[in-house]
Amino acid sequence: MKNPPRNPAALPAKMRRAFPMRNRNSKRANENHNNQYDDEINDMNKKETRQNFRNVCFVRDHYSCVMCGYKSNKENCENELDVHHIISRKIMPNGGYVLENGISLCNKSHIKAEDNLDGYTYDILYNQIKSSKELARAASLKLIERK
Ligand SMILES: [Zn+2]
Repeated sequence: MKNPPRNPAALPAKMRRAFPMRNRNSKRANENHNNQYDDEINDMNKKETRQNFRNVCFVRDHYSCVMCGYKSNKENCENELDVHHIISRKIMPNGGYVLENGISLCNKSHIKAEDNLDGYTYDILYNQIKSSKELARAASLKLIERK
């Protein structure tokens, strides 16, 4: 593999992506920063935040649907389960990608939760994971500090 370029901002976006970690916090990258580069960093943080959100929820919920008990496992959970935002990421601060706002659900249960059907209200879902709207909101507000 070739050496990474010293100035990632001078490269086409496609090439910059090949060396994101090394250059993310470098002085040079900051000196030459532009909005496009910042956007790419933000996109990467979003991806990491989302994946971390899924992982911590799957582990806490033992790779199972919290509502119906359907059992998945570490290998198949990405396909068989979803991590539902109890309160929508559009409403929650910083997208609400926190353990306190996520619940592992199978497809069938996820649809019911999305529609807030009887037995799948916010309060019931939060109660299942021993959280609340307030805890979820407080944790979400802290998300930005991790960047
Ligand atoms: Zn289910």
